[in-house]
Amino acid sequence: MKAAILEQLDRITIKELPEPVCGDREAVIAVKACAVCGSDLRIFHYGNDRVKLPAIMGHEIAGIVLETGKEVTRIKPGDRIALGADVPCGECYWCQNGMGTNCAVNYAIGYQFAGGFQEKMLLNETVLKYGPVTPIADSLSFEAAALAEPLACALNGLELAQFSPGKSICIIGLGPIGCMMLELAKVFGASQVFAAQRSHKRLELARQFNNDARFIATEEEDLVASIKRETEGRGVDLVITTAGTVQAHADAIQVVAHRGYVNLFGGLKNQPPLTLDSNLIHYKECFVMGSHGSLPRHHQTAVRLIEKGAVNAEKYITARFPLENITEAFACHEERGGLKTIILPGNNKNGV
Ligand SMILES: [Zn+2]
Ligand SMILES: [Zn+2]
Repeated sequence: MKAAILEQLDRITIKELPEPVCGDREAVIAVKACAVCGSDLRIFHYGNDRVKLPAIMGHEIAGIVLETGKEVTRIKPGDRIALGADVPCGECYWCQNGMGTNCAVNYAIGYQFAGGFQEKMLLNETVLKYGPVTPIADSLSFEAAALAEPLACALNGLELAQFSPGKSICIIGLGPIGCMMLELAKVFGASQVFAAQRSHKRLELARQFNNDARFIATEEEDLVASIKRETEGRGVDLVITTAGTVQAHADAIQVVAHRGYVNLFGGLKNQPPLTLDSNLIHYKECFVMGSHGSLPRHHQTAVRLIEKGAVNAEKYITARFPLENITEAFACHEERGGLKTIILPGNNKNGV
């Protein structure tokens, strides 16, 4: 079977590997779709402490169960499933207290565990015991199901920020996660939605996900001034920064309402730290927090929302490539700036 191996930074080779051997507490799946994530591209170029080369990346996965060990009861051969990325170890203090995204071990598929950029993959005992392994409806395409992983992270972000019906929201950064937040704002019954993105071009892509949002291209319009003007100076209940920039973090704290939440969702990479007037937080009594990853239950909710069409996952898919062309897929993803690129191991057709 074929696998895309990250052998060194900026170099992926397609190799023929032996078929995975399924232990008593393991399972083997045929990967039918695996979406490319921004974090895959970062690992490809810069590496990651949790990824020891050579490695197989890919953590937004859907496929069919081929084989299960004799002690496995959670899934059976023939099941159609989606996989999330974060796998709680199930045993550390954080996991045992329901905070698996803060797991001390911090396992993830496509990081310590070989991921979905291969034709067949092994689900180990920890993944099957504690991980995000969610059966999907027959009507759901594998490509759409693979996107439950990023959607789960968006759900975790909204949940931790106490988002609820009738609240207003501002999303800064309209990549795939920002667009998912736009759709979720409808699901959650947001009263007012602001959506900001630096360039007009990218912003246009996002319009299809929530027509009622007030879109702001920050290269042309002052985000802070516009939001203050349009909320009678009050600001918004939740500001979520899916763009990992210092400016986004600074603006978020400016436009959040009193007692509102700022979720610094997109982490800062290789940027100077944010300096801020902390009196803004003091006098607003606002909550500045972060979130990352998701729990298995978020992944289950994400699959159900996609199945119901509350989030239209198909709309995010802007390119598809066979596994053999993964390097080209990465380059296209970076150059063209679409939303989601899907890798189809084994040249699978959509939904097959
Ligand atoms: Zn991802
Ligand atoms: Zn843990």
